[in-house]
Amino acid sequence: MLINLSDVLSEQHKTIEKDVAVDMTVFEAPFGRYEIVSKNLVHIVVEHVKDSELMIRGLTDLVIAVPCDRCLEEVDKAFHFDFAKNVDLNPELVDTQKEFDEKNYIDGYNLDVDKLLYNEILIGWPMKVLCSENCKGICSICGQNLNKGTCDCEDTGLDPRMSVIQDVFKNFKEV
Ligand SMILES: [Zn+2]
Ligand SMILES: [Zn+2]
Repeated sequence: MLINLSDVLSEQHKTIEKDVAVDMTVFEAPFGRYEIVSKNLVHIVVEHVKDSELMIRGLTDLVIAVPCDRCLEEVDKAFHFDFAKNVDLNPELVDTQKEFDEKNYIDGYNLDVDKLLYNEILIGWPMKVLCSENCKGICSICGQNLNKGTCDCEDTGLDPRMSVIQDVFKNFKEV
């Protein structure tokens, strides 16, 4: 969804306030594709600071399905956004790479709310997602989800004396 910013620029200290729908249904990250399970309107406030400078504030909540890092089951991950961006629409400033990166959500005199939100999701992406702190993960041999059941692969409760013998055997085989 685009918001036209030319109106707010026409007058000093003018403010626009809008609740904007998000078009995005999937978050397509460089590292994966994640379904947006639920979304709310984005509350956008654009304030004319001075000259061609704007302050853009955004407020919203989203839920995105993210696989658990251990067992790969999808987890409904809640994201809360409350951000403020200072942008300058002066076209002469667009030339530097830094400005360009910061303003990929500004298209001429339009604010692309989806792109703005996309950047924020990327910045706020969690390092680690677990379905629960106690997630047992999956068996590295057969792929069984160990939260849902056991498998007959290597018993991890192996007698430590046995594992020493196993290591010795492994080393022997590698020679
Ligand atoms: Zn898990
Ligand atoms: Zn297994």
